[in-house]
Amino acid sequence: PDSFLSVRDLRVRFSTEDGIVKAVDGLSFDVERGKTLGIVGESGSGKSVTNLTVLGLHNPKTTTVEGEILLDGQDLVTTPEKELEKLRGNKVAMIFQDPLTALSPYYTVGRQIAEPFMKHTGASKKEARERAIEMLTKVGIPQPKTRVDDYPHQFSGGMRQRAMIAMALVCDPDLLIADEPTTALDVTVQAQILDLLKDLQQEFGSAIIFITHDLGVISDMADDLLVMYSGRAVERGSVREVLREPRHPYTWGLLSSMPRLGGSTSQPLTPIPGSPPSLLNPPSGCPFHPRCTFTDKVSGDRCSTERPALGTGRAAACHLTAEQKQTIFIDKIQPR
Ligand code: SF4
Ligand code: MG
Repeated sequence: PDSFLSVRDLRVRFSTEDGIVKAVDGLSFDVERGKTLGIVGESGSGKSVTNLTVLGLHNPKTTTVEGEILLDGQDLVTTPEKELEKLRGNKVAMIFQDPLTALSPYYTVGRQIAEPFMKHTGASKKEARERAIEMLTKVGIPQPKTRVDDYPHQFSGGMRQRAMIAMALVCDPDLLIADEPTTALDVTVQAQILDLLKDLQQEFGSAIIFITHDLGVISDMADDLLVMYSGRAVERGSVREVLREPRHPYTWGLLSSMPRLGGSTSQPLTPIPGSPPSLLNPPSGCPFHPRCTFTDKVSGDRCSTERPALGTGRAAACHLTAEQKQTIFIDKIQPR
């Protein structure tokens, strides 16, 4: 496959006063050109850290990064900061949960969309302003010729999100990283923004990494899915495969804590018992074993002593046999 981004055995560690935090611990994944990879996991699973590292936005003083991040063949781990600056906002762009982390309150929306365009393409001020108006039109801001001179506080939350998308796409990036881009929005606006992103992906052909804790959102957005836990990938496959027949107990937990489509919203959700592991002292063996209710199905104490590997292709890092994964899912987990 034509992998545009290829991450190999990525390890990210931070030094803190309390010790070394293993935020990402041996992660590999690929993103194909024009496709969307969903990365799902609870907070602290390493999904955001991974993507900040792809952008080179980690603090080099306190962070060690090992492994490879190959973007179109270029290893970003060894690329100097000056070079990364030329890629960010140009070949690779990011949209965040909160537009106010990307948009400054002191400059007009138009200027903030125009700026990366001037920086990376050498366009004139006039050309960049035209481009900003064009982008505001593409993201569905009404009266773009007037709104281009507004400040972010004059925009609604949904419009700010649209403006941030305009800013991210202004240089036609090959890879767009979207970190919980709709979490802060109400359901209707959320659906509109997701539709917009899908349309723009068609038009711009960008690959997208879509990070979320919400499996419901991902089913609509992504082609492939990576489930992360404790700084590792625990399950991988196409979105259809993973959502239809998940094979990892952690994914089962995520699925049963998700509101059923068409179900009553007052239906209580079943959260996964326990809390995400400490990344200072990650559990031995399988990182999910302190929360897993299926350890008795695995012989001996393998779950707490032996780290399950994630195979290639469609895979789940769990010691249960393929048959056990299938029968437990069908008998106990599958939504009825
Ligand atoms: Fe549960 Fe053991 Fe599988 Fe880990 S390896 S998910 S603890 S059954
Ligand atoms: Mg996050």
